[in-house]
Amino acid sequence: MERTLILIKPDALTRGLAGTVLARFEQKGLKIAGIKMIQLDDALLREHYSHLAAKPFFPTICEFMSRTPVIALCLEGLEAVEVCRRLCGVTNSRQAAPGTIRGDLGMSMQANLVHASDSPETAQAEVARFFKPQELFDYQPALISYQYASDER
Ligand code: ADP
Repeated sequence: MERTLILIKPDALTRGLAGTVLARFEQKGLKIAGIKMIQLDDALLREHYSHLAAKPFFPTICEFMSRTPVIALCLEGLEAVEVCRRLCGVTNSRQAAPGTIRGDLGMSMQANLVHASDSPETAQAEVARFFKPQELFDYQPALISYQYASDER
């Protein structure tokens, strides 16, 4: 099973949508391997968004992402990285498909409710960035045999 890193962003928290966002992932069948609230500081934001450091909007991302704490999630499932990206929808919430988290709940490019790792390699690095090994848990969901076929588990 694959693990991925999700951040529930300050807009979702402030709008009272953290539970709704978490429920979307849970209802899909992703298993929560780790969950915690964290205040992002400058150093962590620079590392996390290093691929955007040269963009003119970079300072506004840092300001936005540190306005409140975020909820970090490590979610686990078959092809979890791709499944979660599709569940979130495209970056611009206005263009995200109905049925996705961003498409159903947002109107903004920046305030788009969630971050989700974009590849298995990125996911590995991001999970390690936000969680210590002892903060990640391995347990057996009771209904796994109804969530996956025998050759998928
Ligand atoms: P994604 O989060 O969909 O993987 P990116 O990695 O390209 O997208 O961007 C990271 C985050 O930076 C986005 O989720 C969004 O909050 C913000 N962002 C991206 N592009 C813009 C933009 N043009 N203007 C303002 N904020 C942006």
